[in-house]
Amino acid sequence: MKKILRFVLDLLFPLRCLHCRRADYWLCQPCLEKIKLAPTYERFEKILVFSAADYQKKIIKKLVRTCKFSAIPELAEIMGKLLVRGVQQFPEILDLLKNESDLLIVPIPLSARRLRERGFNQSLLIAQELSNYFVQPLANLLKKSERRPQSGLAGKKRQANIHGAFLWTGENLSGRKIILVDDVVTTGATLAEAAKVLKRAGAKKVIGLVFAR
Ligand SMILES: [Zn+2]
Repeated sequence: MKKILRFVLDLLFPLRCLHCRRADYWLCQPCLEKIKLAPTYERFEKILVFSAADYQKKIIKKLVRTCKFSAIPELAEIMGKLLVRGVQQFPEILDLLKNESDLLIVPIPLSARRLRERGFNQSLLIAQELSNYFVQPLANLLKKSERRPQSGLAGKKRQANIHGAFLWTGENLSGRKIILVDDVVTTGATLAEAAKVLKRAGAKKVIGLVFAR
């Protein structure tokens, strides 16, 4: 079934650069290098969230949406590489990633059903790029229960929908600093809720790091 699905997806979305349509690349090197990032940060409730790119930019939106809705994991790896590039502009996070010995990178999980549908968690793949590049440990041990998608819900409803959705299944996080990774931040409700759970598990500090906002 997966193979048939892949075949159909390949027909619908052939391997071509998202930007210039050059064959054999999801995003060719020249186009990748031309992508302008817009590193920024914002506080959402109790969590500070750094983001590398502007979701309103056409190529950024296309990258995120094609990755998720056409289920192309390679595009999540590209987002991860761009995030590594964007992180160079954030002294605070760069210092943690380079020097912190008690750091843990934690991706925002998908629910089990969503993971089955998509076949991969884009946030995990983005987090893996960071983990590999900076040689920092990653723990994919946050679990998410089934909820309605956050997209399509407004403000308070997003908060209510995500409340209680996460469970930390790893060891006690006493004294550890956490970089919580997601693909896109909108209202910050997801990151704030996950951060709350990690702090309850003992984390000393939780910072959000996302590809786009
Ligand atoms: Zn290109």
